[in-house]
Amino acid sequence: MIDVPVLVVGGGPAGMSLALLLDRLGIPSLLAERRPATTNHPKARGCHDRTMEQFRVWGIEDRVRRAGLPATSDVACWCESLNGPLVAYTQPAPSTNTPAPRSIVPQDAVEEALDHALSTRPGAQVRRSTELLTFAQDAAGVTARLRSRDTGEEFEVRAQYLIGCDGANSQVRTTLGVEMEGPEVLSLMANHYYRADLSHLPHVRSAIGFLVRPTDLERPDVNVLATGPDGNRWLAVQKLADGEVPFSEEHLVQLVREQWEMPDLEVERINVLNWTMSAQVARHFRQGRVFLAGDAAHRFPTAGGNGLNSGVQDVHNLAWKLAMVLSGHGTEELLDTYESERRPVARSNTDFAVRNQQRIDKMDVAFRQREEHPEAWRKLLAEQDKQLHTEG
Ligand SMILES: Cc1cc2nc3c(=O)[nH]c(=O)nc-3n(C[C@H](O)[C@H](O)[C@H](O)COP(=O)(O)OP(=O)(O)OC[C@H]3O[C@@H](n4cnc5c(N)ncnc54)[C@H](O)[C@@H]3O)c2cc1C
Repeated sequence: MIDVPVLVVGGGPAGMSLALLLDRLGIPSLLAERRPATTNHPKARGCHDRTMEQFRVWGIEDRVRRAGLPATSDVACWCESLNGPLVAYTQPAPSTNTPAPRSIVPQDAVEEALDHALSTRPGAQVRRSTELLTFAQDAAGVTARLRSRDTGEEFEVRAQYLIGCDGANSQVRTTLGVEMEGPEVLSLMANHYYRADLSHLPHVRSAIGFLVRPTDLERPDVNVLATGPDGNRWLAVQKLADGEVPFSEEHLVQLVREQWEMPDLEVERINVLNWTMSAQVARHFRQGRVFLAGDAAHRFPTAGGNGLNSGVQDVHNLAWKLAMVLSGHGTEELLDTYESERRPVARSNTDFAVRNQQRIDKMDVAFRQREEHPEAWRKLLAEQDKQLHTEG
């Protein structure tokens, strides 16, 4: 039996940020993460101003920024082929209200930076390859059963609070019986993370992502996102039609060569990730001594990049309140303000992301009709500012 004030389940960006914050506030915690290491897939690709401000305070801003794209990169470029002319592109607004502006940085690098910071904090015990099996709460605390995936050994943890940072399919949320509001499946997606050295192409080094919409409708629409500043790692995002399976590696290699119009390009698929685009918020963020944060509490469409960022802001809101209550300076009512403050933000971020996603879907149609209806296309392009010029 391990006794600890706070048990954090899940070591993604939300869980690691929480453990780090608690340690900074002098509260020991145990973080249990099912996977053996931080993510090997780039997933989220942007830390907004507010997240970077916090990373500055935690001493990881520079490390995160070094792994990101140049601040002046164009955001999204529409084209028919990656080697052809860019038909339209949108540029980020400069962040003028903060000394720590946003960074377009892949999630794997953010997780590495958080993990590195945690390794220097003695109060935060991180147990990887360790999964939550069950938990139950009573008036004084929570008892959880965990298992090491390396040895099969099971053990119990007694904590005053348990925080479920265990992602979109949260077991903590399911065990609590907390329902999600909103549509679970907007679309099914497959992300293909690949290596191909394109660093010699000037336009490649100055853009975050390309929306490739070929004239030949037989060829798929695939978004291609730069991963890191070197122009050699990419993410191809495939929207799956009903019953469609992700491209095989062979198909991907052929598609990438076609998209870049380079028949001899060396392409290596690093990994592939299937995911579901949802627009859901948990009905409750707290039940007794158990809290939900990050994707466990809300799942947004990715347009607008609020997933990782909202998770960091959730735990930033929660950590100091837990510290106040655990040190006897605050009452239980303070902890109720976590839900009353963060749930409305999650709902508004969901609406924002859904609107962004709907606009992008309309743009796919307008792009192909841009010669017949240039005004409609230009109007939607200008409206993209609503997504891209937000400071998050
Ligand atoms: C393709 C893609 C693109 C995205 N793009 C963006 C973007 O541009 N901007 C943005 O902000 N967000 C983006 N997101 C969303 C972002 O990745 C998530 O919002 C973010 O990872 C959520 O962080 P989290 O810590 O809440 O959850 P996660 O990162 O999902 O971490 C949860 C962790 O809990 C662990 N876990 C689960 N169950 C257990 C258990 N029983 N015991 C122990 N551990 C457990 C998991 O292994 C996992 O490591 C994207 C996501 C995807 C899939």
